[in-house]
Amino acid sequence: MASVTFEKATRRFAGMERPAVSDLDLHIADGEFMVLVGPSGCGKSTSLRMLAGLEDVDSGTIRIGERDVTHLPPKDRDIAMVFQNYALYPHMTTADNMGFALKIARMPKPRVRERVQEAAAILDLQEYLDRKPKSLSGGQRQRVAMGRAIVREPRVFLMDEPLSNLDAKLRVQTRTQIAVLQRRLGTTTVYVTHDQVEAMTMGDRLAVLKDGVLQQVGTPKEVFERPANTFVGGFIGSPAMNLFRLPLTSDGVRLDGLTVPLPRDVLRSASAEDATEIALGVRPEQFRILSPEDDRTPALDLVVDAVEDTGSVAYLHASARVGGGSAPIVVRLPGRATQGKGARVRVVVRADAVHCFSATTGLRLD
Ligand code: ATP
Repeated sequence: MASVTFEKATRRFAGMERPAVSDLDLHIADGEFMVLVGPSGCGKSTSLRMLAGLEDVDSGTIRIGERDVTHLPPKDRDIAMVFQNYALYPHMTTADNMGFALKIARMPKPRVRERVQEAAAILDLQEYLDRKPKSLSGGQRQRVAMGRAIVREPRVFLMDEPLSNLDAKLRVQTRTQIAVLQRRLGTTTVYVTHDQVEAMTMGDRLAVLKDGVLQQVGTPKEVFERPANTFVGGFIGSPAMNLFRLPLTSDGVRLDGLTVPLPRDVLRSASAEDATEIALGVRPEQFRILSPEDDRTPALDLVVDAVEDTGSVAYLHASARVGGGSAPIVVRLPGRATQGKGARVRVVVRADAVHCFSATTGLRLD
Protein backbone atom coordinates (compact mmCIF):
# COMPACT_ATOMS: atom_id res chain seq x y z
CA MET A 1 0.00 0.00 0.00
CA ALA A 2 1.04 3.57 -0.47
CA SER A 3 0.13 7.21 -0.32
CA VAL A 4 -0.50 9.23 -3.49
CA THR A 5 0.71 12.78 -4.01
CA PHE A 6 -0.14 15.18 -6.79
CA GLU A 7 2.13 18.24 -6.86
CA LYS A 8 1.08 21.02 -9.21
CA ALA A 9 -0.04 18.35 -11.68
CA THR A 10 -1.29 19.99 -14.87
CA ARG A 11 -2.73 18.65 -18.12
CA ARG A 12 -3.51 20.81 -21.14
CA PHE A 13 -5.30 19.64 -24.26
CA ALA A 14 -4.76 21.36 -27.60
CA GLY A 15 -7.54 23.80 -28.43
CA MET A 16 -8.72 24.17 -24.83
CA GLU A 17 -8.66 27.66 -23.38
CA ARG A 18 -7.66 26.49 -19.89
CA PRO A 19 -5.95 23.33 -18.65
CA ALA A 20 -8.22 20.31 -18.10
CA VAL A 21 -6.42 19.99 -14.76
CA SER A 22 -4.56 22.95 -13.35
CA ASP A 23 -1.83 22.83 -10.66
CA LEU A 24 -3.48 20.01 -8.73
CA ASP A 25 -2.02 19.66 -5.23
CA LEU A 26 -3.48 16.71 -3.38
CA HIS A 27 -2.12 14.23 -0.85
CA ILE A 28 -3.95 10.95 -0.32
CA ALA A 29 -2.87 9.03 2.75
CA ASP A 30 -1.92 5.37 2.80
CA GLY A 31 -5.13 3.32 2.99
CA GLU A 32 -7.39 6.29 2.43
CA PHE A 33 -10.53 6.28 0.26
CA MET A 34 -10.42 9.58 -1.64
CA VAL A 35 -13.27 10.60 -3.92
CA LEU A 36 -12.69 13.09 -6.75
CA VAL A 37 -16.04 14.73 -7.40
CA GLY A 38 -17.37 17.54 -9.55
CA PRO A 39 -19.62 18.24 -12.52
CA SER A 40 -19.01 16.91 -16.01
CA GLY A 41 -15.82 18.30 -17.52
CA CYS A 42 -14.27 19.42 -14.21
CA GLY A 43 -11.14 17.31 -14.79
CA LYS A 44 -11.70 14.41 -12.39
CA SER A 45 -11.18 11.63 -14.99
CA THR A 46 -8.13 13.41 -16.38
CA SER A 47 -6.65 13.57 -12.84
CA LEU A 48 -7.26 9.85 -12.36
CA ARG A 49 -5.86 9.02 -15.81
CA MET A 50 -2.71 11.02 -15.04
CA LEU A 51 -2.28 8.94 -11.89
CA ALA A 52 -2.88 5.77 -13.90
CA GLY A 53 -0.34 6.79 -16.55
CA LEU A 54 -3.01 6.87 -19.26
CA GLU A 55 -2.64 10.62 -19.72
CA ASP A 56 0.55 12.67 -19.95
CA VAL A 57 1.37 15.12 -17.19
CA ASP A 58 2.41 18.42 -18.80
CA SER A 59 3.91 19.87 -15.65
CA GLY A 60 4.08 18.93 -11.99
CA THR A 61 4.74 15.61 -10.30
CA ILE A 62 2.82 12.53 -9.21
CA ARG A 63 4.19 10.19 -6.57
CA ILE A 64 2.96 6.83 -5.32
CA GLY A 65 4.57 6.37 -1.93
CA GLU A 66 8.04 7.86 -2.26
CA ARG A 67 8.31 6.91 -5.91
CA ASP A 68 8.01 9.55 -8.64
CA VAL A 69 5.72 7.90 -11.22
CA THR A 70 5.05 11.01 -13.32
CA HIS A 71 6.49 9.54 -16.49
CA LEU A 72 6.31 5.79 -15.78
CA PRO A 73 4.17 3.58 -18.04
CA PRO A 74 0.93 2.30 -16.42
CA LYS A 75 2.26 -1.25 -15.98
CA ASP A 76 5.09 -0.05 -13.75
CA ARG A 77 2.91 1.89 -11.31
CA ASP A 78 1.49 -1.02 -9.30
CA ILE A 79 -2.09 0.22 -9.60
CA ALA A 80 -5.32 -1.45 -10.71
CA MET A 81 -8.12 0.43 -12.38
CA VAL A 82 -11.86 -0.31 -12.51
CA PHE A 83 -13.48 1.38 -15.49
CA GLN A 84 -17.02 2.58 -16.01
CA ASN A 85 -17.66 0.00 -18.76
CA TYR A 86 -15.80 -2.76 -16.81
CA ALA A 87 -13.74 -3.60 -19.94
CA LEU A 88 -14.22 -7.37 -19.47
CA TYR A 89 -13.06 -9.74 -22.20
CA PRO A 90 -16.31 -11.13 -23.65
CA HIS A 91 -14.88 -14.51 -24.68
CA MET A 92 -13.34 -15.24 -21.27
CA THR A 93 -14.99 -16.73 -18.19
CA THR A 94 -15.19 -14.83 -14.92
CA ALA A 95 -12.20 -16.78 -13.58
CA ASP A 96 -10.12 -16.06 -16.69
CA ASN A 97 -11.09 -12.40 -16.70
CA MET A 98 -10.09 -12.11 -13.09
CA GLY A 99 -6.81 -13.98 -13.46
CA PHE A 100 -5.75 -12.57 -16.82
CA ALA A 101 -3.34 -9.91 -15.58
CA LEU A 102 -1.66 -12.42 -13.27
CA LYS A 103 -1.27 -14.90 -16.12
CA ILE A 104 0.33 -12.21 -18.28
CA ALA A 105 2.66 -11.47 -15.37
CA ARG A 106 3.60 -15.21 -15.50
CA MET A 107 2.35 -16.04 -12.06
CA PRO A 108 2.23 -19.85 -11.60
CA LYS A 109 -1.21 -21.27 -12.38
CA PRO A 110 -2.02 -22.69 -8.93
CA ARG A 111 -1.23 -19.32 -7.36
CA VAL A 112 -3.48 -17.54 -9.89
CA ARG A 113 -6.29 -19.98 -9.13
CA GLU A 114 -5.86 -19.37 -5.40
CA ARG A 115 -6.01 -15.57 -5.74
CA VAL A 116 -9.05 -15.77 -8.01
CA GLN A 117 -10.79 -18.05 -5.49
CA GLU A 118 -10.01 -15.66 -2.66
CA ALA A 119 -11.34 -12.66 -4.57
CA ALA A 120 -14.41 -14.60 -5.71
CA ALA A 121 -15.17 -15.46 -2.09
CA ILE A 122 -14.87 -11.81 -1.03
CA LEU A 123 -17.12 -10.69 -3.90
CA ASP A 124 -19.59 -13.55 -3.71
CA LEU A 125 -18.74 -14.70 -7.22
CA GLN A 126 -17.88 -18.39 -6.62
CA GLU A 127 -20.95 -19.64 -8.48
CA TYR A 128 -20.18 -17.56 -11.52
CA LEU A 129 -16.54 -18.40 -12.15
CA ASP A 130 -17.28 -20.41 -15.30
CA ARG A 131 -19.71 -17.94 -16.85
CA LYS A 132 -18.91 -15.47 -19.57
CA PRO A 133 -19.80 -11.78 -19.19
CA LYS A 134 -22.87 -11.95 -21.44
CA SER A 135 -24.57 -14.36 -19.05
CA LEU A 136 -23.92 -12.18 -15.99
CA SER A 137 -26.09 -9.38 -14.64
CA GLY A 138 -24.80 -5.80 -14.58
CA GLY A 139 -24.06 -6.06 -10.86
CA GLN A 140 -22.15 -9.33 -11.31
CA ARG A 141 -20.09 -7.88 -14.16
CA GLN A 142 -19.27 -4.94 -11.95
CA ARG A 143 -18.04 -7.35 -9.26
CA VAL A 144 -15.91 -9.23 -11.79
CA ALA A 145 -14.31 -5.93 -12.74
CA MET A 146 -13.62 -5.31 -9.04
CA GLY A 147 -12.28 -8.85 -8.70
CA ARG A 148 -9.87 -8.30 -11.53
CA ALA A 149 -8.45 -5.31 -9.65
CA ILE A 150 -8.35 -7.10 -6.28
CA VAL A 151 -6.41 -10.19 -7.44
CA ARG A 152 -3.52 -8.01 -8.45
CA GLU A 153 -3.10 -6.77 -4.89
CA PRO A 154 -2.05 -3.36 -6.14
CA ARG A 155 -0.75 -0.49 -4.05
CA VAL A 156 -3.61 1.74 -5.24
CA PHE A 157 -7.10 1.13 -6.67
CA LEU A 158 -8.34 3.64 -9.22
CA MET A 159 -12.05 3.66 -9.99
CA ASP A 160 -13.72 5.79 -12.64
CA GLU A 161 -17.50 5.95 -12.11
CA PRO A 162 -17.67 2.15 -11.57
CA LEU A 163 -21.37 2.27 -10.65
CA SER A 164 -22.71 4.35 -13.50
CA ASN A 165 -24.04 1.39 -15.49
CA LEU A 166 -26.10 -0.01 -12.62
CA ASP A 167 -29.72 0.80 -11.90
CA ALA A 168 -30.48 3.11 -8.97
CA LYS A 169 -31.19 0.41 -6.39
CA LEU A 170 -28.16 -1.70 -7.25
CA ARG A 171 -26.00 1.42 -7.25
CA VAL A 172 -26.94 2.12 -3.64
CA GLN A 173 -26.23 -1.50 -2.59
CA THR A 174 -22.97 -1.66 -4.49
CA ARG A 175 -21.63 1.63 -3.18
CA THR A 176 -21.92 0.26 0.35
CA GLN A 177 -20.24 -3.01 -0.70
CA ILE A 178 -17.33 -1.16 -2.29
CA ALA A 179 -16.86 1.09 0.75
CA VAL A 180 -16.92 -1.93 3.10
CA LEU A 181 -14.56 -3.89 0.88
CA GLN A 182 -12.11 -1.00 0.65
CA ARG A 183 -11.99 -0.72 4.43
CA ARG A 184 -11.49 -4.45 4.76
CA LEU A 185 -8.63 -4.54 2.25
CA GLY A 186 -7.22 -1.21 3.42
CA THR A 187 -5.94 -0.40 -0.06
CA THR A 188 -5.48 3.27 -0.94
CA THR A 189 -8.32 4.13 -3.34
CA VAL A 190 -9.00 7.03 -5.65
CA TYR A 191 -12.60 7.04 -6.84
CA VAL A 192 -14.10 9.36 -9.46
CA THR A 193 -17.77 10.28 -9.54
CA HIS A 194 -20.01 13.17 -10.51
CA ASP A 195 -22.55 12.00 -7.92
CA GLN A 196 -22.30 13.97 -4.72
CA VAL A 197 -24.25 11.38 -2.73
CA GLU A 198 -21.72 8.71 -3.73
CA ALA A 199 -18.92 11.09 -2.77
CA MET A 200 -20.46 11.90 0.60
CA THR A 201 -21.28 8.31 1.54
CA MET A 202 -18.19 6.46 0.30
CA GLY A 203 -15.14 8.63 0.81
CA ASP A 204 -12.97 9.14 3.87
CA ARG A 205 -12.37 12.51 2.21
CA LEU A 206 -13.49 14.18 -0.97
CA ALA A 207 -11.73 16.52 -3.34
CA VAL A 208 -14.16 18.82 -5.14
CA LEU A 209 -13.08 20.04 -8.58
CA LYS A 210 -14.46 22.68 -10.91
CA ASP A 211 -13.06 23.77 -14.27
CA GLY A 212 -9.86 21.82 -13.63
CA VAL A 213 -9.21 23.58 -10.32
CA LEU A 214 -9.37 21.95 -6.88
CA GLN A 215 -11.96 23.79 -4.79
CA GLN A 216 -11.83 22.01 -1.44
CA VAL A 217 -10.54 18.83 0.20
CA GLY A 218 -12.04 17.48 3.39
CA THR A 219 -14.10 14.83 5.11
CA PRO A 220 -17.74 14.67 3.98
CA LYS A 221 -18.72 16.38 7.24
CA GLU A 222 -16.20 19.22 6.80
CA VAL A 223 -17.16 19.87 3.20
CA PHE A 224 -20.86 19.79 4.00
CA GLU A 225 -20.68 21.88 7.15
CA ARG A 226 -18.07 24.37 6.01
CA PRO A 227 -18.09 24.62 2.22
CA ALA A 228 -15.12 26.73 1.12
CA ASN A 229 -17.05 28.68 -1.50
CA THR A 230 -20.46 29.10 -3.12
CA PHE A 231 -19.69 26.46 -5.74
CA VAL A 232 -18.98 23.73 -3.14
CA GLY A 233 -21.96 24.92 -1.07
CA GLY A 234 -24.23 24.51 -4.08
CA PHE A 235 -22.72 21.27 -5.36
CA ILE A 236 -22.58 19.22 -2.16
CA GLY A 237 -26.01 18.63 -0.63
CA SER A 238 -29.27 17.70 -2.28
CA PRO A 239 -31.40 19.62 -3.05
CA ALA A 240 -28.81 22.36 -3.43
CA MET A 241 -28.18 25.06 -0.85
CA ASN A 242 -30.30 28.20 -1.38
CA LEU A 243 -28.05 31.15 -2.18
CA PHE A 244 -29.19 34.75 -1.85
CA ARG A 245 -27.28 37.88 -2.74
CA LEU A 246 -28.20 40.39 -0.05
CA PRO A 247 -27.27 43.92 0.95
CA LEU A 248 -25.22 44.02 4.11
CA THR A 249 -26.40 46.11 7.07
CA SER A 250 -24.32 46.98 10.11
CA ASP A 251 -25.20 43.78 11.98
CA GLY A 252 -26.41 41.33 9.38
CA VAL A 253 -28.72 40.83 6.42
CA ARG A 254 -32.46 40.93 5.86
CA LEU A 255 -34.41 38.12 4.27
CA ASP A 256 -37.70 39.92 3.68
CA GLY A 257 -39.23 40.30 7.20
CA LEU A 258 -36.49 38.24 8.78
CA THR A 259 -33.28 39.78 10.09
CA VAL A 260 -30.36 37.37 10.19
CA PRO A 261 -27.60 38.64 12.48
CA LEU A 262 -24.15 37.61 11.28
CA PRO A 263 -21.18 36.52 13.39
CA ARG A 264 -18.56 39.14 14.10
CA ASP A 265 -15.83 37.40 12.08
CA VAL A 266 -18.09 37.37 9.01
CA LEU A 267 -18.79 41.09 9.40
CA ARG A 268 -15.07 41.72 9.88
CA SER A 269 -14.10 39.80 6.72
CA ALA A 270 -16.86 41.52 4.75
CA SER A 271 -15.72 44.95 5.88
CA ALA A 272 -12.09 44.06 5.06
CA GLU A 273 -13.13 43.72 1.44
CA ASP A 274 -15.43 46.77 1.57
CA ALA A 275 -18.40 44.55 0.78
CA THR A 276 -21.85 46.08 0.45
CA GLU A 277 -23.44 42.69 -0.26
CA ILE A 278 -22.86 39.09 0.75
CA ALA A 279 -23.95 35.73 -0.61
CA LEU A 280 -25.97 33.98 2.07
CA GLY A 281 -26.37 30.20 1.89
CA VAL A 282 -29.19 28.35 3.61
CA ARG A 283 -29.65 24.61 3.18
CA PRO A 284 -33.26 23.49 2.54
CA GLU A 285 -33.35 21.58 5.84
CA GLN A 286 -32.33 24.63 7.87
CA PHE A 287 -35.65 26.47 7.50
CA ARG A 288 -38.32 26.02 10.12
CA ILE A 289 -41.92 26.62 9.21
CA LEU A 290 -43.93 28.68 11.67
CA SER A 291 -47.35 27.44 12.63
CA PRO A 292 -50.15 29.19 10.70
CA GLU A 293 -51.40 30.81 13.94
CA ASP A 294 -48.07 32.53 14.52
CA ASP A 295 -48.27 35.82 12.66
CA ARG A 296 -46.09 37.81 15.02
CA THR A 297 -42.67 36.17 14.82
CA PRO A 298 -40.59 37.99 12.19
CA ALA A 299 -40.30 35.60 9.25
CA LEU A 300 -39.61 35.14 5.57
CA ASP A 301 -42.92 34.92 3.66
CA LEU A 302 -43.10 32.34 0.90
CA VAL A 303 -45.61 31.40 -1.76
CA VAL A 304 -45.47 27.71 -2.67
CA ASP A 305 -44.98 27.09 -6.40
CA ALA A 306 -44.76 23.29 -6.30
CA VAL A 307 -44.54 20.45 -3.79
CA GLU A 308 -42.28 17.44 -4.19
CA ASP A 309 -43.31 14.69 -1.79
CA THR A 310 -41.00 11.66 -1.64
CA GLY A 311 -42.99 9.87 1.06
CA SER A 312 -40.46 10.33 3.83
CA VAL A 313 -39.58 13.97 3.22
CA ALA A 314 -41.19 16.72 1.18
CA TYR A 315 -39.72 19.74 -0.56
CA LEU A 316 -41.55 23.00 -1.02
CA HIS A 317 -40.40 24.89 -4.11
CA ALA A 318 -41.43 28.44 -3.39
CA SER A 319 -40.67 32.05 -4.17
CA ALA A 320 -39.75 34.75 -1.72
CA ARG A 321 -39.18 38.49 -1.84
CA VAL A 322 -35.49 38.71 -1.18
CA GLY A 323 -32.94 41.46 -1.82
CA GLY A 324 -35.39 43.61 -3.80
CA GLY A 325 -36.55 40.85 -6.16
CA SER A 326 -38.25 37.49 -6.19
CA ALA A 327 -36.02 34.50 -5.47
CA PRO A 328 -36.72 30.79 -5.86
CA ILE A 329 -36.25 28.87 -2.64
CA VAL A 330 -36.42 25.23 -1.59
CA VAL A 331 -37.53 24.23 1.90
CA ARG A 332 -37.32 20.66 3.20
CA LEU A 333 -40.09 19.42 5.45
CA PRO A 334 -39.43 16.52 7.81
CA GLY A 335 -42.65 14.66 6.93
CA ARG A 336 -45.43 14.86 4.37
CA ALA A 337 -46.46 18.23 2.97
CA THR A 338 -49.83 19.59 4.00
CA GLN A 339 -49.33 22.75 1.96
CA GLY A 340 -50.32 22.86 -1.70
CA LYS A 341 -49.45 25.07 -4.66
CA GLY A 342 -50.28 28.71 -3.93
CA ALA A 343 -50.10 28.29 -0.12
CA ARG A 344 -48.45 31.02 1.91
CA VAL A 345 -45.85 29.80 4.36
CA ARG A 346 -43.74 31.69 6.89
CA VAL A 347 -40.27 30.38 7.67
CA VAL A 348 -37.43 31.28 9.98
CA VAL A 349 -33.79 30.24 10.03
CA ARG A 350 -31.31 30.05 12.88
CA ALA A 351 -28.47 32.55 12.58
CA ASP A 352 -25.89 29.84 13.28
CA ALA A 353 -27.22 27.66 10.45
CA VAL A 354 -26.38 30.01 7.60
CA HIS A 355 -23.26 30.11 5.42
CA CYS A 356 -21.74 33.45 4.44
CA PHE A 357 -19.68 33.97 1.31
CA SER A 358 -18.15 36.97 -0.38
CA ALA A 359 -20.51 38.29 -3.07
CA THR A 360 -17.49 39.10 -5.24
CA THR A 361 -15.13 36.11 -4.83
CA GLY A 362 -17.64 33.50 -3.62
CA LEU A 363 -15.21 32.50 -0.84
CA ARG A 364 -16.41 31.62 2.63
CA LEU A 365 -16.17 34.56 5.02
CA ASP A 366 -15.62 32.75 8.33
P1 ATP B 1 -17.03 13.61 -17.08
O1 ATP B 1 -17.70 13.35 -15.78
O2 ATP B 1 -17.94 14.19 -18.11
O3 ATP B 1 -16.19 12.46 -17.59
P2 ATP B 1 -14.63 14.85 -16.03
O4 ATP B 1 -14.77 15.74 -14.86
O5 ATP B 1 -14.11 13.50 -15.79
O6 ATP B 1 -15.98 14.82 -16.83
P3 ATP B 1 -12.49 15.14 -17.89
O7 ATP B 1 -12.89 13.94 -18.69
O8 ATP B 1 -11.31 15.02 -17.02
O9 ATP B 1 -13.70 15.65 -17.04
O10 ATP B 1 -12.30 16.34 -18.89
C1 ATP B 1 -11.85 17.62 -18.49
C2 ATP B 1 -11.82 18.53 -19.68
O11 ATP B 1 -10.82 18.07 -20.60
C3 ATP B 1 -13.12 18.55 -20.47
O12 ATP B 1 -13.36 19.86 -20.90
C4 ATP B 1 -12.87 17.62 -21.62
O13 ATP B 1 -13.62 18.00 -22.76
C5 ATP B 1 -11.38 17.81 -21.87
N1 ATP B 1 -10.75 16.60 -22.42
C6 ATP B 1 -10.66 15.41 -21.80
N2 ATP B 1 -9.97 14.53 -22.56
C7 ATP B 1 -9.61 15.18 -23.68
C8 ATP B 1 -8.86 14.84 -24.85
N3 ATP B 1 -8.35 13.61 -25.01
N4 ATP B 1 -8.69 15.79 -25.80
C9 ATP B 1 -9.17 17.03 -25.63
N5 ATP B 1 -9.88 17.44 -24.55
C10 ATP B 1 -10.10 16.53 -23.59
